[in-house]
Amino acid sequence: MTGAQLKHTVFDQFPVQDNCIVVGGTPLTRLAQRVGRTPFYAYDRQKITNRIQLLRKSLPDEIHLHYAMKANPMPAVVQHLAGLIDGIDVASVGEMHIALDTTIPPNKISFAGPGKIEHELSSAISAGIVLNMESEREMRLIVKLGEQLGIRPNVSIRINPDFELKSAGMKMGGGPKQFGVDAELAPALLKQIGKLDLNFIGFHIFSGSQNLKSDAIQEAHEKTLQLALKLAEKAPSPIHTLNIGGGFGIPYFPGESALNIQSIGENLSNLLPEVKHRLPEAQIIIELGRYMVAEAGIYVCRVIERKVSRGRVFLITDGGLHHHLAATGNFGQVIRKNYPVMIGNKAHGTQKEIATIVGPLCTPLDLLAEQMEMEKAEVNDLVVVLQSGAYGLSASPTGFLGHPEPLEILV
Ligand SMILES: *Cc1c(COP(=O)(O)O)cnc(C)c1O
Repeated sequence: MTGAQLKHTVFDQFPVQDNCIVVGGTPLTRLAQRVGRTPFYAYDRQKITNRIQLLRKSLPDEIHLHYAMKANPMPAVVQHLAGLIDGIDVASVGEMHIALDTTIPPNKISFAGPGKIEHELSSAISAGIVLNMESEREMRLIVKLGEQLGIRPNVSIRINPDFELKSAGMKMGGGPKQFGVDAELAPALLKQIGKLDLNFIGFHIFSGSQNLKSDAIQEAHEKTLQLALKLAEKAPSPIHTLNIGGGFGIPYFPGESALNIQSIGENLSNLLPEVKHRLPEAQIIIELGRYMVAEAGIYVCRVIERKVSRGRVFLITDGGLHHHLAATGNFGQVIRKNYPVMIGNKAHGTQKEIATIVGPLCTPLDLLAEQMEMEKAEVNDLVVVLQSGAYGLSASPTGFLGHPEPLEILV
């Protein structure tokens, strides 16, 4: 399938000036000169702001928005988001330090992830952030470390729900999972927590990622809230935070369209009164990574060579799999599909062709676009991979083949 068949408007997200896309107010060629070399990632600050405004407008006022930092941990991006959101979810001590450098207070920072070890837990307890406990082992260790440090740890339980998020690109809850405590085992844990030196604050229930079906998300919200209400009956103290996950997806491929966020908001407005009535002290949190940042980011590389091999046009660039694994289809895709890719300095060109865009690595996996229709490109033109603000650089094997790392800018 070609780019022209995309039903959504992914290709028109950035304004165009003199045939060149404009990112963060600057035409791409000028931006590339400013950066000084390709490849690079650029994130558009205003687009991130607009996205948070859309979420605020569409979701009920009571919803607290958290940023799941693993989507894009660039410190400047996290700092920018910190001024717009209510909390940050981290998945490592490295991410925790970036979050603690922002103005977000520690008790609005939570730490999830299976297999947390002693030094990670003691750093987190000392920082005063919230630990999402994923097992009984973690709970015991947290109690021991809290005693040693003389600090009462803030904890919530991450629950592996007894249902699945339908149509999620990546399921992270329901069925047997390494994440969280199985819902049916949670009551016994809650009973123990009541007797331990822990500051229990609530639940974290995350069921999946990259979902474009609002009705599936709405159903998951309903089931998540019902599960939380049921578990809350066994809780040793009032629930202060109820993190109901996120999983909001963005369109990448032909035929996909943007999530109906209004409908998700309306559904939550209907569900919240009962929760507020039964858990009057609970803050309801939605945590999102991809949805907040993915569309604001592009990856830019340069055409080094145009090669025609047995009639097929290859654009060989200075960027690829080592910087942007997801765009090559190697980050969780079952069937490889082309990310939206365009020639950024020929946005409205008149001459089109079918081309295959590859990187400089000695592997056929280094493929940014396969047989895709785009503007005819020459050496030095700038290839732009759209929808690249999430799971880009930090999710790529930059050491593979030893090329230099790309730069990242927030504009
Ligand atoms: C990865 C992750 C997220 C973010 O998922 P997105 O699809 O990027 O929104 C949120 N919460 C937890 C616990 C995660 O592991």
